[in-house]
Amino acid sequence: MSVARTVLLKVSDNQWLRENGTRLPFIRRAVSRFMPGESFEEMITAARATAADGLASLFTRLGENVTDIGEADAVAHHYLDGIDQLRSLNLDCEPSIKLTQLGLDIDRELAYAHLRDLAARAHAANNYLWVDMEQSSYVNITLALTKRLREEFPRVGLCLQAYLFRTRQDLEDITSRGIGVRLVKGAYNEPPEVAFPKKSDVDANYYALAQQMLAPAARAAGSRAVFGTHDLDLIQSIRAHAQLAGVKPAEYEFHMLYGIQKPAQQRLAKDGVPVRVLIAYGDYWFPWYMRRLAERPANVWFVAKSLFG
Ligand SMILES: Cc1cc2nc3c(=O)[nH]c(=O)nc-3n(C[C@H](O)[C@H](O)[C@H](O)COP(=O)(O)OP(=O)(O)OC[C@H]3O[C@@H](n4cnc5c(N)ncnc54)[C@H](O)[C@@H]3O)c2cc1C
Repeated sequence: MSVARTVLLKVSDNQWLRENGTRLPFIRRAVSRFMPGESFEEMITAARATAADGLASLFTRLGENVTDIGEADAVAHHYLDGIDQLRSLNLDCEPSIKLTQLGLDIDRELAYAHLRDLAARAHAANNYLWVDMEQSSYVNITLALTKRLREEFPRVGLCLQAYLFRTRQDLEDITSRGIGVRLVKGAYNEPPEVAFPKKSDVDANYYALAQQMLAPAARAAGSRAVFGTHDLDLIQSIRAHAQLAGVKPAEYEFHMLYGIQKPAQQRLAKDGVPVRVLIAYGDYWFPWYMRRLAERPANVWFVAKSLFG
C-alpha cells in the first residue's frame, strides 16, 4: 500500500478532523468535484441530470459510526422519506446505506429494526436496498444482518470487498442466497492479516471474484452482479470474460461514483450495460472524502489548487 494512501486513510479516522475538517473552505471547494451538494434536493438535481444522460443512480447520505440513538432514528427517517420522494418523482435512484449510520455501534437490533424498515419501504416502492461494507471488524455482522433481511425481502444487495482474503467464501454464500453483490476493491486501511497489501493482488482477486459472479451458479440464484469500479482495464477484462461466458451486457452492471470516469459511464451505457452513479451528499463528508483522496493521491493536487481558489 502506498505511503500516501496510508496517511490519507489515517487522516480519515482522525476524530477531530472528522468533526472540523468540513469547515475548511478550500476542502469544501475541492470536494464539490465528487459531491453535488449537501442537501437531498441537490442530490435529486444531480440524479435528474444523470438520468438525462441515460444513467440510473444510487443515493447515500454521508455519515458513519453514529453514537446517538436519536441521530440513528433521524437517519432512518431521512432514508424512508427519500425513498418516498423518489417514488413520487418516478426517479430510478436506489438507496445505499451504512449499518453504523443506522446505529450498529449502539445496538445491533436497533440497526436491524431500521434496516428492516428501509427494506420494507424500498420493497413497497419497487426500489432496491444496498448495504455498504465498512471496516473488516464489521463484516461478520453486516453479512449476518443482510442474510436475515433477505429471508423477508428479495430486493436486497450487499457490497463485498476484493481486498479481503475472506471474500471468496463470502461471495459464494451471498450469491447462493440470491442477494445482490456490488463488488468493490475496498476503501479502508486494513492490516495484512486480513487483506492483500499489494494493489496488484487486489486487482487480480477482483477479476477472479468477478468471474465467480458471472458463473452459472451465481446467475441461477438470481444474484444481481454489480461491479463497483472505475478501473478501465478491469472493466474491459470483465466485459471480455462476460462475452466469452455468454453473459449478455444487460445481465450485469457497473456502479461508479459521481464525478469519476464520466465518459466511461456513458460509453458503457451506450453499449447496453446498465450503469448507476452513486451520488453522495450530506454534511458529514470528511472521512468519505479522505477515502476518495486515498484512492487516487493525485487528487490531493486538486485540494492544493482549491487552496488558492
Ligand atoms: C458504487 C460504489 C460503491 C462503493 N461502496 C463501497 C463500500 O461499501 N465499501 C468500500 O470499502 N468501498 C466502497 N467503494 C469504494 C471502492 O472500494 C474503491 O475504493 C473505489 O471504487 C476505487 O477503486 P477502483 O475500483 O475504482 O480502482 P482504482 O484502482 O482505485 O482506480 C482505478 C482508476 O479509477 C480512477 N479513480 C478511482 N478512484 C478515483 C478517485 N477517488 N478520484 C479520481 N479518480 C479515481 C482513476 O483513474 C484510477 O486510476 C465503492 C465504490 C463504488 C464505485
